[in-house]
Amino acid sequence: MGPGLDFSSTSTGRGGAPPTVHGTRHPGEEDHATGIRWVSVPTVASTDAPTSALAVVYTDEGEFIEYRFFPRNPDLVLIDTQLVANAPVQFLVAGIGDALATWIEARASAKAAATTMAGGLATQAGTALAELSWRIIHENALSALDAVRDGIVTPALESLVEANTLLSGLGFESGGLAAAHAIHNGLTAAPQTHGLTHGQKVNIGSLTQLVLEGAPRAEIEDFVEFTTRVGLPNTLTEIGLSPDDTRALEAVAAAATVESETIHSMPFPVTADDVVAALTSIERLSRSIRAEKGLPEPVEYEAAH
Ligand SMILES: [Zn+2]
Repeated sequence: MGPGLDFSSTSTGRGGAPPTVHGTRHPGEEDHATGIRWVSVPTVASTDAPTSALAVVYTDEGEFIEYRFFPRNPDLVLIDTQLVANAPVQFLVAGIGDALATWIEARASAKAAATTMAGGLATQAGTALAELSWRIIHENALSALDAVRDGIVTPALESLVEANTLLSGLGFESGGLAAAHAIHNGLTAAPQTHGLTHGQKVNIGSLTQLVLEGAPRAEIEDFVEFTTRVGLPNTLTEIGLSPDDTRALEAVAAAATVESETIHSMPFPVTADDVVAALTSIERLSRSIRAEKGLPEPVEYEAAH
């Protein structure tokens, strides 16, 4: 423990939904000016927020309000992986969804030479860590999820937690956010999605971003197959919506494309109509890929009222 570290201010992460703050309630919100030094000790690996100097503020209903920036990142991110192994597996599934977006968004943001969440242009390091996170997740996620189902810590789980909390956190902050998180924020405007985790909604944003980019078919197939195996939603059905919910999808797209949103960090202009079309398309797209690969059909999500 270094001088100046104030452990009394250390808070633990909140992985549940709807959170008031994305992942971590940053200590010293009242200490903006002083920039108190702090340590992050998340008890679940459900988002990459514990590594960042950024909090996402939501209403009690779970609607996105704003990103709030803090003057300092944590001096240390400390995770007891046995706690992660003891937690419900859904937390880790959510953390995988949040982290998979990091590379998809960082590479788009780098292409656009967009401003990152840390301010300024993306660094090569930020973009490279985002890609490393993506690779480690693909190699370890399924084994790590099985380890958590058994309540045990394995090297795959250790690697996954490093990827989805540390590398993804550094990667999004210094690599840049783009469409996936903007679409997540838009989805929070739809009451049908309330109660879903951040990572589940981000995953819909990731797939929608791939559609907006016109990503190669093979890449989209891999993404749908992998995220289905992980247990993440990749259809509207699984987030309480359907392609016929035109009004709701228009509201989501409007919120996702407000001027301040990171969707404008994409390397091409994106309109609300583009987002409605891309969101609508993922239902048939994912269903057909899942059928081709012999994967289960989506199960309808119903928000608790
Ligand atoms: Zn996130």
